[in-house]
Amino acid sequence: MEGATVSEFTYHVKTEPERPSGESRIWHVLVGPKGAVQFMVLRLPARVNGLGLGDIGPYVGADVGYHAREPQYDGQGIIDCKCPWVDGPCYYDGSSLRAMEWAKRLYSLPAGEQENWLRISLREEYEAVFGGGGSSERS
Ligand SMILES: [Zn+2]
Repeated sequence: MEGATVSEFTYHVKTEPERPSGESRIWHVLVGPKGAVQFMVLRLPARVNGLGLGDIGPYVGADVGYHAREPQYDGQGIIDCKCPWVDGPCYYDGSSLRAMEWAKRLYSLPAGEQENWLRISLREEYEAVFGGGGSSERS
């Protein structure tokens, strides 16, 4: 058992307890050597017409972002995000606009294909954010 072939990446799904409003947040997160990428979804109690987007929900894309162990650009400050994904300081950034696009694609898929799509998309996002560097790619 050398462990050399063990993936450096771990995929997590975390759901917060439902709020009194009936909303809850769901995080889909891929954690790798350089940090984590996340897709955060807001689950509404019902479909609503909002944000100028027409009929949306109950799942609304809220954030596509990353939690990095190192700054990703000059001057990026540490965000105190009480980060459960990286140990120590976290450099965070994200986009709600992109999350809306992700949600549209994700929830147009059959339920049985959603996790696989998330794993692939988060891995691509990781590569886009952190680059393909690190140890051996493609086992
Ligand atoms: Zn963080």
